[in-house]
Amino acid sequence: MKALRAAADLIWPADCAGCGAELAGPLCTRCRLELLGPVERREGGSPRLVPADGGPALAVWSSAWYAGPVRNAIVAWKRQGRGELERELTRAAARTAEAAARVLAQITPAVAVVPIPSRALRNWGEGARRTRALALAAAEALAGAGLEATLEDCLARRATSREQAGLAAHQRMRGREDATRVRYAPKAPCLLVDDVLTTGATLLDAERSLAAAGATVLGAIVLAATPAQSQTLEGGLP
Ligand SMILES: [Zn+2]
Repeated sequence: MKALRAAADLIWPADCAGCGAELAGPLCTRCRLELLGPVERREGGSPRLVPADGGPALAVWSSAWYAGPVRNAIVAWKRQGRGELERELTRAAARTAEAAARVLAQITPAVAVVPIPSRALRNWGEGARRTRALALAAAEALAGAGLEATLEDCLARRATSREQAGLAAHQRMRGREDATRVRYAPKAPCLLVDDVLTTGATLLDAERSLAAAGATVLGAIVLAATPAQSQTLEGGLP
């Protein structure tokens, strides 16, 4: 299966980025339907976002699980970033934001849409551009739904990989735990935007950093979230 995927990667872009099926577009209908599933709260599979004491979890809206063809497509986008694939994924982010807007509109008239800078320190610029493209699509969808939405590039990574390399191990751990730098605190409540949700450490770090700077975080939207254990067993993989 891995060899097949690797082979599919080589001949892609002529194939579906999700399943490798031969077609002219970046995603086949089946894989697009997996990406555009029901928009729901999907933070349940991310232990860092669900407090052990039973407190409220950070709300994360998404339309897909990070598994199977959706995972393949997002990885292909990160690695190759083909234009048509980006259009599919930004459209998915916009659709999720539009659904989240119904909930957000009951809480606030204005939302600051905040892209999460990439954790891949070596490729910071490219990662930031990708999440920014998703955040821009989300902000436009929120505005279309009647909210006063602004894109706020207010987060940055704290340390470069070179700086990290010069630190002692315990300092590196600390750096990893506290890697988000807040350039300014948006006035409106924040909606975080990231490509995927895995452990939740990145979103939690961003939420804490923004809260420390005086901003409020309402929740987040991602393209796909790691399934909870039971959901992994039930499906998602082709
Ligand atoms: Zn496909």
